[in-house]
Amino acid sequence: MDELDLLIDLHRSGRRQGPGSDDATRLAVRLAGLEASRGLKIADIGCGTGASTLLLARELEADVTAVDFLQPFLDDLTASAEKDGLNARIATLAVSMDALPFEEQSLDAIWSEGAIYNIGFEAGIAAWRRFLKPGAVLAVSELSWFTGERPAELERHWTEQYPEVATASAKLAALEANGYAPIGYFPLPEDCWLDNYYRPMQARFAAFLDRNGGSTAAQAIVEGEKREIALYERYSAYYGYGFYIARKIGA
Ligand code: SAH
Repeated sequence: MDELDLLIDLHRSGRRQGPGSDDATRLAVRLAGLEASRGLKIADIGCGTGASTLLLARELEADVTAVDFLQPFLDDLTASAEKDGLNARIATLAVSMDALPFEEQSLDAIWSEGAIYNIGFEAGIAAWRRFLKPGAVLAVSELSWFTGERPAELERHWTEQYPEVATASAKLAALEANGYAPIGYFPLPEDCWLDNYYRPMQARFAAFLDRNGGSTAAQAIVEGEKREIALYERYSAYYGYGFYIARKIGA
């Protein structure tokens, strides 16, 4: 197995592939001012196995196009959609988020939880804007500093992993500079990271290593995740995901 297959193997059986929760998704829906209405068109970009996709389709009765470049995640999402009777409202699309095939001004909302970092926040909000109808909303969660200063060890780690990590005020300014009016922000609470993401992942480590014969590559992935978890446990007051909700201004 190469590294990508190993990552799929580790994350596929999780309900989420990143920090988040149904409650946080619902809060973002409320801040976005979205109300249930047949025919709403939403893209969920970097959807993973689709925790947010399923919620948006169910609770907003929306038609959701779920985008991820990993087909195995989309296969699991399709199975969940069928099980929940939501398959008529969910279409999956295996493409990269930097080459989306949507028509201009065709979407009522763009959703993306814990995924826009893959092309970078600024590049993503700039590139995706044209797919939104005028006045439509963008809702994305993104790694953010919660304070103006933070411990050097933490700063070093995340600046190296994701150079675009920044404060909420900087992220809001980036939205303003790219043709959006921010209409909401909240930091994801700790349970989104610990109860919904890290603890379930930790519980899968042993079986994951077993399945992969304790290979060096599998061990390296587990060690990397363990370091990241320890960092979060130590410094969660200083960083996490911010959920940013903004309206497209202009055409
Ligand atoms: N939104 C989901 C998954 C977050 S993990 C959740 O919150 O649970 C990030 C997701 O982005 C993964 O599913 C990964 O496969 C996907 N991804 C990474 N790079 C991508 C790219 N370039 N294009 C599309 N999807 C990508």
